[in-house]
Amino acid sequence: MTIFPPLVIPQTIAAGPGPGNTDARVLARFAGAGLADHMHPDVLRGMIECKQMLREVMGTKNVHTFGVAGTGWSGLDVMFSAVMPGDKVVMFVNGTFSGIDGLTVRMKAATADELAANPMDPQPASVIIIDVPHGQSVTGEIAEKALAEHKPKWAAMAHSETGSGRVNDIKGFSDACEKHGAMGLVDAVSSLGVEDFSIDDYPGVHGWASCPQKGICCLPLTYAPVSFTDHYIDVLKSTGTRTFVHHPIMEARHWGIIDGKDSEKGVYHRTHSAYAVAAFHEALRITLEQTVAQRAADYRFHEAALRDALSAMGCEITSNMTSLVVLNLPAELAGREMELVQHCRAQNFGIWPTLSEPVQVRIGILNLLTQSAITDIVTRFAQAMRDLGATVDQEAVEAALDRHYGRAIAAE
Ligand SMILES: *Cc1c(COP(=O)(O)O)cnc(C)c1O
Repeated sequence: MTIFPPLVIPQTIAAGPGPGNTDARVLARFAGAGLADHMHPDVLRGMIECKQMLREVMGTKNVHTFGVAGTGWSGLDVMFSAVMPGDKVVMFVNGTFSGIDGLTVRMKAATADELAANPMDPQPASVIIIDVPHGQSVTGEIAEKALAEHKPKWAAMAHSETGSGRVNDIKGFSDACEKHGAMGLVDAVSSLGVEDFSIDDYPGVHGWASCPQKGICCLPLTYAPVSFTDHYIDVLKSTGTRTFVHHPIMEARHWGIIDGKDSEKGVYHRTHSAYAVAAFHEALRITLEQTVAQRAADYRFHEAALRDALSAMGCEITSNMTSLVVLNLPAELAGREMELVQHCRAQNFGIWPTLSEPVQVRIGILNLLTQSAITDIVTRFAQAMRDLGATVDQEAVEAALDRHYGRAIAAE
């Protein structure tokens, strides 16, 4: 028998698309929670308070707003659970994650025969995938044209496509859904807590799913926020869905949402974790204290500084998200993206490559919203480029940072 030594995982700078840097306050609540079962009154009360704070963070009056245990895909699986075999769906894909959303939709919408014909990659006749090239956003016109042509039951896209760093037009999408009678479903995994938006401003969208560990600054495998309109719930009630754990109506019960109404306390659906509830609760408190609007402004401010400094190093930025920069390296390093990323990661500087073609570098700033954090990222990245033999114009890089943070502070 082998008993390995205790697992030691080093501290890294999470400078990628996610997971982000968990807030220290969240970790303290997680570790500070007492041993309590999932029906303890304070755990149940914590879940009700989380639900109420989450409605505030998401900007919604939807009763069916709660957390799904797990990560982004867990929330998305709950959201897509209303898509039934044979349903007509238009899915907009402009990168890795919306691509996987597309696979989820094809699995859910496939008939039994279609699924058996290609179980891992079904190609149901009722799903239309609209491919938008990597590096481009899904625009309102693209959504309008496709929904006018196909008039589907469901339409889905990512709000921010983290694979290519592109923000998609959520208003144009919602308008097109309303106009053509499609129910919109949105993957908001990397936009919630980063962009300033209220989901109730988009009446064409009936289902939303996010994750714990990006804009919400909580731990992975705690709670993925989801929200559904009454219309979504009514449609689901009429068709049903083949899942117990990820059933939106059943899963909501533990959060005190029963028969479409708020109840005093939740009833058993599955075991919840006092640690996860305490962590999620603190993450939501932090978001509301800082406000979604202020956070979004901070992301815009610091992303602009990072973008300028990277441009001064000769990188070409192709993204427009505010929590993530996606770039092409200068010509002298072209083709060495993976080598550069591996070099940074070996020093616990956790940047990422793209996960599907073309190969690009992704640098994220989740919960790294300070001058010193951005300067550290810029300094480390410039050094890594030099280590690979590139020349970096240090003066131009510093001038770019000065333009955003001010010479007085930078000179200190
Ligand atoms: C990160 C991400 C996901 C996947 O989330 P997990 O937390 O890894 O399960 C899905 N969609 C988008 C847009 C993402 O950024």
